[in-house]
Amino acid sequence: MNENEKCKKIYITTPIYYVNDVPHIGHAYTTIIADSLARYSRLAGMEVFFLTGTDEHGQKIEQAAKARGKSPQEYATEISNRFKQLWDDFEISYDKFIRTTDPDHIKGVQKAFEIMVEKGDIYKDVYRGHYCVSCETFFTDTQLIDEEFCPECGRSTTMVEEESYFFRLSKYQDKLLEWYESRPDCILPKAKRNEVINFVKSGLNDLSITRTSFDWGIKLPESMHDPKHVIYVWLDALMNYITALGYGTDEKLMDYWPAKVHLIGKDILRFHAIYWPAFLMSLDLELPHHVAAHGWWTRNGEKMSKSKGNVVDPKEIADAYGLENFRYFMLREVPFGQDGDFSQRALIDRINSDLGNDLGNLLNRIIGMSGKYFDFHIESDDVAKYHEEELLEVKAILSNVEPFLYEIQTNRYLEELWKTLRIANKAIDKAMPWVKMKEGKEDEAMATIALVANILAKVSVLLHPVMPKTTQTIASALGFEVNNDSYYRLIKEEELLGKFTIEKVPPLFPRIEEPLVETPGQKAEAKSKSELKAKEEKNSASREKSDKTAENGDNLITIDRFFEVKLKVGSVMEAQEVPKSKKLLKLQVDLGEEKPRQIVAGIKEWYAPEDLIGTQVCVVANLKPAKLMGMLSEGMLLAAKDDEGLCLIRPEKPKKPGTPIG
Ligand SMILES: [Zn+2]
Repeated sequence: MNENEKCKKIYITTPIYYVNDVPHIGHAYTTIIADSLARYSRLAGMEVFFLTGTDEHGQKIEQAAKARGKSPQEYATEISNRFKQLWDDFEISYDKFIRTTDPDHIKGVQKAFEIMVEKGDIYKDVYRGHYCVSCETFFTDTQLIDEEFCPECGRSTTMVEEESYFFRLSKYQDKLLEWYESRPDCILPKAKRNEVINFVKSGLNDLSITRTSFDWGIKLPESMHDPKHVIYVWLDALMNYITALGYGTDEKLMDYWPAKVHLIGKDILRFHAIYWPAFLMSLDLELPHHVAAHGWWTRNGEKMSKSKGNVVDPKEIADAYGLENFRYFMLREVPFGQDGDFSQRALIDRINSDLGNDLGNLLNRIIGMSGKYFDFHIESDDVAKYHEEELLEVKAILSNVEPFLYEIQTNRYLEELWKTLRIANKAIDKAMPWVKMKEGKEDEAMATIALVANILAKVSVLLHPVMPKTTQTIASALGFEVNNDSYYRLIKEEELLGKFTIEKVPPLFPRIEEPLVETPGQKAEAKSKSELKAKEEKNSASREKSDKTAENGDNLITIDRFFEVKLKVGSVMEAQEVPKSKKLLKLQVDLGEEKPRQIVAGIKEWYAPEDLIGTQVCVVANLKPAKLMGMLSEGMLLAAKDDEGLCLIRPEKPKKPGTPIG
């Protein structure tokens, strides 16, 4: 960023979160990245507008509210407040929290609809499609699984035919391709751009943008004289990014447009990278600079879901480990765009190692030495004389970190800052100020302590957006405050601190030995604290192992972990085809229990039912029952599959049903 950009306006958004969901770690992740970006931009002197909010319309909300005996508005308000509360607890520095039920948003969407109609981009037709109520999405014949089931959630779809208004998305196909071509970083991470381009090249259908089948949505503008339609979710929701700036009502904030970055999860990339720019083109508005899509958080390697009971409550974790430690962990742990794994052990490692050993310890070292040798009074005058090399190295790193942040490579940004901490630690070990003091070389000892203090000062400025309070504590120990002024002096002008007095602070990152939270997932699995502890130790052991063997591509587990899976020999009593399914067979398998288990298996392409009856199979017996195509499945068959097909794994000789394997 140069001087011209100093007063630049910058607009940063999170998605608006759907109120049919409670806040989880994924929401926290997106919001924390956006918040750090907003804080950095403010620190750098830009005028920031940071938007978050909730998406509140749609059939799912209408149904969820009804099931709870509430009006959709009451229900939406209740959940929206939960998000707002969490962001307030997390000290998220948003400038506006928008709700799609806000009157100004509604007016703005209606205005946009009218403009699109005038432009000739909206027309009325009949929509036919297979509708999944749960996903609120229509699918074409070719998208369905086994001609009936939703490709997203596996639930049954229904054929719906209704009058609908359409947006001429097809008209914008070429213009969209031009945009992706001319702005290689419009979609981040850049690897995602190709997915989008291929999708658009495969041909865009016009988009159905209204519904008559439910009520809970924005009505068409009155000028349309068509009161039975409501505007469908995506047109309504995406428009929030401009209605928040007053689009269609009071447009005084519209000079923040276009957005610098829309931060989103990868599940909604298509809507943001295709529909949204097309809508904007129709409205003759500029396109956003970046749409940045992040991956999922898993937990101990498993996808989080309510049914597994392993959803991480971000508030609980932040309360236990410290909000700023949690923020650091999230931004440091995962390369943007990839999936990240949450485990308390990984969080503890980051706190003890990066924050405690590297950052905290460095501060303690200079507090100790400056007190012992110089009564805490430090001067930077001789730093360049004795540590020119280190200063140049640090300068080279820090003057190049900013782009990592705006390209949402927060892990790289933080790694770079930590490189300078290593330079500082090495400088102490090499210069050994305690030896210099004995040799009477006080200037040199002073220069080393001052070098380290200056590196810490610069790091605390650049780390401020991620850890606002902690870095302010470090800064005040070094006699300054992190603000726009110190940002310019220490980072842009590359100045040193000059003369300053170091103040003692209590240790910032006390070492954590044990996991501090019994999370819901573990509550279900571990009955007592001691079991919990044993489990975490096991996790930690396997994590260490997997770190060591990562290069070989292996992921080693302990034998205990293996025995958590109960494998048994089973005899197939019955087998039949599942009507309408191309893949599934329904089996009754005797596992030596009171009655046979029903197992639904995707093996129809390779086995005829009559060939299976009377044979033996190996069964995962303690798998949580699942419903496939509406049928209960109480286990899983072991099989091996390669290019040539699939074969079942069977005992070499017949064994009694229920014989354990392992
Ligand atoms: Zn679905």
